[in-house]
Amino acid sequence: MDFTTATFKNFENIEGHDMYDRAAVFGDFLQYMKDNGHMNYRLQNFSGCGPEMRVKTSIHEDGFDYVSFVSNDYLGFTQHPKVKAAAIQGISDFGTGAGASPLIGGHFSYHEILEEKIAAFFKRSKDSSVIYTTGYTANSATLMSLLQKEDLAIVDMAVHSSIYEGCILTNTKTFLHNHMESLERILKAARSQYRTKLVIVDGVYSQDGDLAPLREIIGLARQYGAYVMVDDAHGIGVLGATGRGALEQHDLLQEVDIISGTFSKTFANIGGYVIANPDLINFLKFQSRQQIFSATSTPAAAGIIKAIELIDEEPHWQLKLWENINYFKKGLQDIGIDTGTTASAIVPVKIGDPHKTGDAGKLLLKAGIYTNPILYPAVAKKDARIRMSLMATHTREQLDKALNAFEFVNQKLDIVGQSV
Ligand code: PMP
Repeated sequence: MDFTTATFKNFENIEGHDMYDRAAVFGDFLQYMKDNGHMNYRLQNFSGCGPEMRVKTSIHEDGFDYVSFVSNDYLGFTQHPKVKAAAIQGISDFGTGAGASPLIGGHFSYHEILEEKIAAFFKRSKDSSVIYTTGYTANSATLMSLLQKEDLAIVDMAVHSSIYEGCILTNTKTFLHNHMESLERILKAARSQYRTKLVIVDGVYSQDGDLAPLREIIGLARQYGAYVMVDDAHGIGVLGATGRGALEQHDLLQEVDIISGTFSKTFANIGGYVIANPDLINFLKFQSRQQIFSATSTPAAAGIIKAIELIDEEPHWQLKLWENINYFKKGLQDIGIDTGTTASAIVPVKIGDPHKTGDAGKLLLKAGIYTNPILYPAVAKKDARIRMSLMATHTREQLDKALNAFEFVNQKLDIVGQSV
């Protein structure tokens, strides 16, 4: 089987194939990936999430130690003793599960404190917050609850999948990534046709690590009577003078209608949140199906409360993260590698050709570097890349090991100057 053809196949919809047939075709592809050492995906980790991971690959049956660049635990808080202690205390006080959805008995004091803490974190004094069990659900539930068939969602084409899912009940128009003329064209055409118009963007885009031009987006939305929602999953803890993310970096924290985010990255746990006007938040608390029919986070969520505090108590982690980002990016650029437009902790090694990207992922694994090759359909067919997530807790030696591995990969595959 040809790697490129196999990768490009749309497994979700093969004409004339029922669910078992489609799964069987996919099974062949998976086997091909495994047999050819391209399997960087869904590997079993035996150690905690962090810069060093013991991972089981097909080559090393009992696991092997890799330097890992796959975690979005940007400040390293999943291993922070105070965060762990708070999570353990949560379990010790409340047990291991919440037992119900928030509406019918699963809303505990640690959830209430968390909602207060995360709302206060954004320093929007009039707003409140609601938490969900994942960041994915926070986006999809919010949009499904707020937008119906009379409304319009206007989304940057590169927004996270959960935003697309949230828009399935409403009208959706996508604008070209970060392209303000494309956005304005849609806003202009939409003028008064819709009840609610909501522009939805990510603060930081998860594949390129680039930022949304938030000031221009908000300006255009206001000009044409639209509201704005920003998902800043990858910006919190990374951007802004005090780690409040892309909106803080642009001095726009007070300027948008809705902020959403996740507890699964900098906050080192699981869950999601939405910050908005108290009426909207109450509406979501009582109207979104995910608040009514889905259980809340476990008492280990008490760790998130500590992680939020640590952003202010230990700002050196953010500084260390930026030292690492700058060092690593410069190292890649010195090799001649294209890192695109990143301005965050996500550093794409843009290769372009999916074959070479798959092969690079395989060589990196062999060299002890665990990464994510990102291929179509996550990115355009000729825009394949290795995505590197940097952490504050990566050591200089680990970064050098990865840079040496990329130098070796470049000698073998000539990955410089290949991207679209
Ligand atoms: N938004 C963005 C931009 C993301 O990258 C992600 C996670 N990949 C999410 C939302 C979903 O967050 P969670 O992992 O908490 O479901």
